[in-house]
Amino acid sequence: TSNTNTLERDRGILIVLSGPSGVGKGTVCSALRKISPELVYSVSTTTRKPREGEVEGVNYFFKSKDQFEQLIASDEMLEYAEYVGNYYGTPRRFVEETLASGKDVILEIEVQGALKVKEKFPEATFIFLIPPSLAELENRIVTRGTETNDIIRSRMSVAVDEIRLMRHYDYGIVNDEVHKACSKIQAILMAEHCKCDRI
Ligand code: 5GP
Repeated sequence: TSNTNTLERDRGILIVLSGPSGVGKGTVCSALRKISPELVYSVSTTTRKPREGEVEGVNYFFKSKDQFEQLIASDEMLEYAEYVGNYYGTPRRFVEETLASGKDVILEIEVQGALKVKEKFPEATFIFLIPPSLAELENRIVTRGTETNDIIRSRMSVAVDEIRLMRHYDYGIVNDEVHKACSKIQAILMAEHCKCDRI
């Protein structure tokens, strides 16, 4: 593996959570944060404009396109992707240091970025949140009220492509009820910690 001096069990587990826009990743992540406070969330960097209520350094690090391209050039992104006209990426150092300190880290990212993480960290655990149906997905994006009709259409079309790529993930969870999805993620994490190659 990438770390030869440390036993696997001393390192935290990297969890990658994906799922189409509107599936409720944000809601599931906030619920999970409350019940599993030991799990560390990686805050992503984006060129998207902040939504109302979003806080710098909490929801995202908000950057200009130029600043983001600088971060790519200086290899500070563990992965990044372009999604509906904006860059999104995971700051590398925070994730590497947190894993090395023995804590589990969760990345909430879209599919292209997740596939890049899989190349670099094949031992990571990949979880895909599945919407109960496409109609329900569209309904959730519309109800959130943060996107224009054009953006909703683009996000829905990306969603269909993303669901096709679900086969690259280790686990799929239908997000019908938040607390159920959370318990499933906790169960997966517990099982990952019990794998023989970590003990
Ligand atoms: P939103 O604009 O709704 O906050 O995010 C749009 C999409 O970008 C979501 O699917 C979200 O999971 C994804 N995303 C957020 N942060 C990152 C990141 O650091 N890297 C990648 N590849 N995708 C991200």
